[in-house]
Amino acid sequence: DIAYVNGAYTPLEDAKISILDRGFLFADGVYEVAAVIDGRLVDNAAHLARLERSLKELRLECPASMQEIVEIEKTLVARNGIAEGMVYLQITRGAAERDFAFPKGVKPTLIAFTQEKNILSSLYAEKGIRIVTVPDQRWARRDIKSVALLAQVLAKQAASEAGCQEAWMVGPDGYITEGSSSTAFIITKAGAIVTRPNSEAILPGCTRLSVLALAAEHGLDVAERAFTAEEAYEAAEAFLTSASNLVLPIVSIDGRAIGDGKPGPHATRLRALYLDFARATACS
Ligand code: PMP
Repeated sequence: DIAYVNGAYTPLEDAKISILDRGFLFADGVYEVAAVIDGRLVDNAAHLARLERSLKELRLECPASMQEIVEIEKTLVARNGIAEGMVYLQITRGAAERDFAFPKGVKPTLIAFTQEKNILSSLYAEKGIRIVTVPDQRWARRDIKSVALLAQVLAKQAASEAGCQEAWMVGPDGYITEGSSSTAFIITKAGAIVTRPNSEAILPGCTRLSVLALAAEHGLDVAERAFTAEEAYEAAEAFLTSASNLVLPIVSIDGRAIGDGKPGPHATRLRALYLDFARATACS
């Protein structure tokens, strides 16, 4: 596989950055992940818009234009022959003598690589996934897609040790914030699709945005409000959205079956709608 590091395409095993890189020392950086379907980038305009916002919030200067970034992504997808998978992109404040405040005159680091992954047909899409809830131990600016992911690493590990595929994090307000790497949704018995409104408490999911638009377009009832784990246990359905998993039905939360314990009709339909949308709008 070929990766991109600061202006050069190089074999993945040769792709290296300094141990003084601030991404490594301070998690002083941001990232994006976009799905690839049929060799084309899915929902990429939304991912680039969020990248620009994350950069701005951290006063990080982008070493490339958004157009150049798209070119890098497309080059990697083509050269690595990725039909289905992801493109990962990271920008850090660069390598400098270790000091907490921003260094002066340092060029930010830009790296990118691809990953092959089955996202269209997955066993989890058919069978649904099991999840657990854990306390949300992250910092207060979860709307910024920073590479400081330790709390999410611990949450995903807790899920894995419980034989589950994802963890939903419970914020200090007692309400679910989101999944460790996905947006959380439930569907009430009355048929309303419920997800927490965007704020500094959660990452504004690109897939969330498209799925909510598709739901509204198809006349489904949408309510943007916070919900608790207890409400989720009693919901008719639950599901998650993310670039790398699209829409996945959730069949159990903390060991309690959701609905009849099988992927629900709304989640299944939303996955199909999002897939059609993704294929129709993906760009190469
Ligand atoms: N929340 C968190 C914490 C995430 O890491 C992700 C994955 N990037 C999401 C939500 C879903 O966002 P998206 O649909 O843009 O992948």
